[in-house]
Amino acid sequence: MEPHAIVIGAGLAGSSAAERLAARGWRISLIDRAAAPGEGASGNRAGVLRPLPSLDDNRLARLTRAAFTYALAHLQALTAAGLPLRWGQTGVLHLARDERHAATQQRVVAEQAPADGYLRWLDREAASELAGWPVACGGWWFAGGGWVDPASLCRANLARHGAAVQPYYRRQVERIERDGGCWRCFAGNGELIAAAPVLVLANAGEVRRFAAASHLPLRRARGQVSHLPAVAGSPPAIVVCRLGYVTPAIDGLRCAGASFAVDDDEAELRATDHAENLARLEFILPGYSRHFDAASLDGRVGFRPLSPDRLPMVGALADATAVDAACAASSPGELRRLPGLYLCNGFGARGIVWSALAGELLACLVDGSPPPLAADLVAAVDPGRFLLRGRRQRRAAGGPR
Ligand SMILES: Cc1cc2nc3c(=O)[nH]c(=O)nc-3n(C[C@H](O)[C@H](O)[C@H](O)COP(=O)(O)OP(=O)(O)OC[C@H]3O[C@@H](n4cnc5c(N)ncnc54)[C@H](O)[C@@H]3O)c2cc1C
Repeated sequence: MEPHAIVIGAGLAGSSAAERLAARGWRISLIDRAAAPGEGASGNRAGVLRPLPSLDDNRLARLTRAAFTYALAHLQALTAAGLPLRWGQTGVLHLARDERHAATQQRVVAEQAPADGYLRWLDREAASELAGWPVACGGWWFAGGGWVDPASLCRANLARHGAAVQPYYRRQVERIERDGGCWRCFAGNGELIAAAPVLVLANAGEVRRFAAASHLPLRRARGQVSHLPAVAGSPPAIVVCRLGYVTPAIDGLRCAGASFAVDDDEAELRATDHAENLARLEFILPGYSRHFDAASLDGRVGFRPLSPDRLPMVGALADATAVDAACAASSPGELRRLPGLYLCNGFGARGIVWSALAGELLACLVDGSPPPLAADLVAAVDPGRFLLRGRRQRRAAGGPR
């Protein structure tokens, strides 16, 4: 098979998949309806990079730990290569919601004994000192975390392997079809945009327009970030989170967010969402929000591609038409896959965290090399999981997914 793949979508998902495939010698035809990379959900000024530990070290915790570690190495490699990536490894302070949550955070650190550089617990005084502002609770300190300009990450990914990635911007794929061993992508006027043996669908919530992916339980979650004018040198100089986040000043503005509304298609900024973000900011840094007026803030709206279990969808797409509802498959290996068709999607609210590892996993699955994750975590992000017997029965009964 010719090592040539089409990737639809030049956001975090598509650019990461393209970069990892190109690193293995693949030629990539990258298609996006926008004029440049990172114009969709991946276009915020900055987002947060940090993992999400849990007391039981569940799949989300294990996956975000692996993804965070992988992302840091990737960002460092892009920076070392002189690529135009903007990020700041300022550290992330994840404050506890309340005293009960603070106790849980402390137990996680005590029981799991993570390396200091990865995670430490800070009491309220130490947290306030780091934030440069009095806070209500102590919290987790991820010294290696920080903020990332996601569109700059997309651009850096796509620039890394030079001419290996051929972009087709301002081209919307309306139809995909497989013919003669190749996937073909067509524009609305019937024009063939590109054809290749492998096709990676990384076009976020729009993927369900394609019949082969229409069964995926992917939804769009609208999010609005508020841009807060910032005086040079003012606190915080680190990222601070507490049911929301605020970044350090970047080019004179902080990002504070973010609102979250499923199946809300309003593309314009809303003052009500700015007010929500200011309320979040007040919860993070008491007294801080009084300097801002929701009616006069600027910001940005994006649409997160959300999966029901909040885990990404990375891997070969299963043939949903071949799944018999009466005796559905019980393991991913039993599912019939559509040849050459892959998904890199469902990044939800954590695309900055997922993208580098997801791109690497996707590339391993495409070229058959060993995946960078344990088998149960590969299965946890397999897009075929939504077609498995147990999950289908639970969904039909309205139970947990
Ligand atoms: C408000 C907000 C705050 C966030 N904060 C954080 C954060 O702090 N930390 C974090 O880790 N993550 C955060 N995220 C999540 C992260 O931004 C997303 O998970 C990520 O950007 C999704 O990347 P994507 O490539 O899947 O989607 P997108 O960036 O939307 O890319 C999809 C691309 O596909 C293209 N496309 C769609 N359909 C077609 C078609 N038919 N033909 C051609 N092109 C097509 C689009 O133009 C788009 O460029 C946030 C998201 C939002 C909205």
